[in-house]
Amino acid sequence: MADPFVGTYTGGCACGRVRYEIREPPRVAFSCYCRACQRYTGSACMSAMLVPARAFTLTRGEPAQYRSKGDSGFEITRCFCGHCGSPVVTRLGRLPDEVGVPAASLDDPSGFKPTMNLFTAFAQPWAPMNPELRKFETAPSRRVRRSVARAHRRACRATDSIARATFARAGAASG
Ligand SMILES: [Zn+2]
Ligand SMILES: [Zn+2]
Repeated sequence: MADPFVGTYTGGCACGRVRYEIREPPRVAFSCYCRACQRYTGSACMSAMLVPARAFTLTRGEPAQYRSKGDSGFEITRCFCGHCGSPVVTRLGRLPDEVGVPAASLDDPSGFKPTMNLFTAFAQPWAPMNPELRKFETAPSRRVRRSVARAHRRACRATDSIARATFARAGAASG
């Protein structure tokens, strides 16, 4: 299966007035169950990924912004389309080199692979949660996020090589 996060990939809001492109793979993918994300999405959680800020460019439109203080004490700027209201990017005062991009704002969100659930202490009892993902009652440290991301990449590579070997065997058997 082609990796949708290789090269340049794109996304935007529901009405198309705000568009972006991303030129590097995500550093980490997660679902956040904090109350702020619940309010913002109007749903159980925000599934999002962190990408390097230098690799993210708004290519159309100027999103509206909502600033607040996160539990970390740092400012969080949530950028959304002022016309249709869709979230498109979140800028984190605590992590100025990265931006948060909502998974479902991607043009092809199908390849999104969250590796952890954050702020699960605030999850709603009715919220579905993948039991195989690592859970953090609040936010993991940067070091933990890095190691989870590395493990995730290793797992992806292993899956890829198993798939390639399987295809090679199938090809040899039929040929
Ligand atoms: Zn819009
Ligand atoms: Zn959150």
